[in-house]
Amino acid sequence: MAADLGADNQAFDEKHDVLKSTQTVIHKALEKLGYPEEVYELLKEPIRMLTVKIPVRMDDGSVKIFTGYRAQHNDAVGPTKGGIRFHPNVSEKEVKALSIWMTLKCGIVNLPYGGGKGGIICDPREMSFRELEALSRGYVRAISQIVGPTKDIPAPDVFTNSQIMAWMMDEYSRIDEFNSPGFITGKPLVLGGSHGRETATAKGVTICIREAAKKRGINLEGARVVVQGFGNAGSFLSKFMHDAGAKVIGISDAYGALYDPNGLDIDYLLDRRDSFGTVTKLFDNTISNKELLELDCDILVPAAIENQITEENAHNIRAQIVVEAANGPTTLEATQILTDRGILLVPDVLASAGGVTVSYFEWVQNNQGYYWTEEEIDEKLEKVLVQSFENVYNTSETRRVDMRLAAYMVGVRKSAEASRFRGWI
Ligand code: GLU
Repeated sequence: MAADLGADNQAFDEKHDVLKSTQTVIHKALEKLGYPEEVYELLKEPIRMLTVKIPVRMDDGSVKIFTGYRAQHNDAVGPTKGGIRFHPNVSEKEVKALSIWMTLKCGIVNLPYGGGKGGIICDPREMSFRELEALSRGYVRAISQIVGPTKDIPAPDVFTNSQIMAWMMDEYSRIDEFNSPGFITGKPLVLGGSHGRETATAKGVTICIREAAKKRGINLEGARVVVQGFGNAGSFLSKFMHDAGAKVIGISDAYGALYDPNGLDIDYLLDRRDSFGTVTKLFDNTISNKELLELDCDILVPAAIENQITEENAHNIRAQIVVEAANGPTTLEATQILTDRGILLVPDVLASAGGVTVSYFEWVQNNQGYYWTEEEIDEKLEKVLVQSFENVYNTSETRRVDMRLAAYMVGVRKSAEASRFRGWI
């Protein structure tokens, strides 16, 4: 799950500082809700941030020291929750912003959690299975004091998967001296994973696309969809859109993009993608990620990494609806431009909340030791996402704000209220 090779190799994007822009919207949302400044002072940064060094013996015999982070934004509502990202561009600021977004997601879909997030600066595409296992276990040992099934519950994110969750769960269970499936979500089914977790983010995005299309009178049957990124969210989403009768005319990975105005053969591409979502290398006639984003289409879904739609290309976006499956793909300037142009933007903190919703179902199943069927999960997820979409959409209509600000207003309220009831502010 990654975007342009250029973007992929960049260090933290100082110009589009995701932490600063998140803080700007949090501030606006709290102001609109009538909260005093000290609430913002509490919520503008994580309450806890741990930086760790993880030594790993590499296959060539050398020892490499990796840097990792775990941010816990606010635990007034309940334990913190959020994924762990393995990526060369991971930074302290990014992890902090991502933890705030997790608070917002949990607030929007009304889960009993605050937001957390972790990350390790590494490139898993260049590491062996053994090295990845050592890194995953080392990270858990390093953060074990601040995480746990009732403290902070990790999950997969960019370039991490159910195998990595399994190693992490095993390591934590050894430290804890108990089998602790509720320590982490996104596990394989045999280790207490949940049906529907792997496809949950894409299913949530699909529900948001369907609801947004209804609002704009767009028929999904035959609608032209462009998806940036072919990782967990992007690949399953392309499949669901294709199966719903939409025409997926463009997809991309970290190395380029594919375009066919008649619709791509999604099943073939899914079959050929590698575990990091790379598929375009197999083709000669590719276009760039930049060209992909500016294709004439009905629905555009950025499902890769941050800062892909900026003030530089927002004027050229030709979709009627933009649904953010990635975290932070659109800058604030670009949000304003798209809104002014009448494009409906469904923000990340709502559109990508399906993943954490089914993670919550997984954790509940682990805690009670009783497991649900895929149909039960689907039904519950559908209900939660439809209700959350309506709630954010109605807030945006009644308060006359764009959907991003509306989502922040809905999302931040619970942590603000819980912090107040606890007597923290
Ligand atoms: N990493 C995912 C996200 O950004 C899922 C988090 C979770 O399941 O806890 O929403």
